[in-house]
Amino acid sequence: MLADYVALAQKEEKVTFVGRLGTYRYLDMDVTIREALDCGRAWLNALNEGKKMPAFNVNPL
Ligand SMILES: Cc1cc2nc3c(=O)[nH]c(=O)nc-3n(C[C@H](O)[C@H](O)[C@H](O)COP(=O)(O)OP(=O)(O)OC[C@H]3O[C@@H](n4cnc5c(N)ncnc54)[C@H](O)[C@@H]3O)c2cc1C
Repeated sequence: MLADYVALAQKEEKVTFVGRLGTYRYLDMDVTIREALDCGRAWLNALNEGKKMPAFNVNPL
């Protein structure tokens, strides 16, 4: 089910899925915050370099 969900999500061009629900994983708060900060940094880098953000900054599989 998760693989189907990831395949569908990767077709999205303007959405990056994050967090416990968005990546379909149990996460503690410290991990969630770390990943959110990393995703924000990746988003800023992508914006500066004119690149697209991927559907997942952290691979849920
Ligand atoms: C019962 C329980 C106990 C826990 N205890 C601990 C603990 O002791 N220590 C620990 O480190 N972690 C604990 N966790 C885990 C911690 O809560 C999660 O890791 C963390 O909250 C995940 O953060 P998140 O931002 O991914 O998701 P969430 O905190 O769930 O945030 C998602 C947000 O998105 C909002 N949202 C959802 N859909 C939409 C929508 N369509 N539009 C707008 N907003 C939307 C929701 O209202 C919510 O505010 C616990 C979790 C649970 C369920």
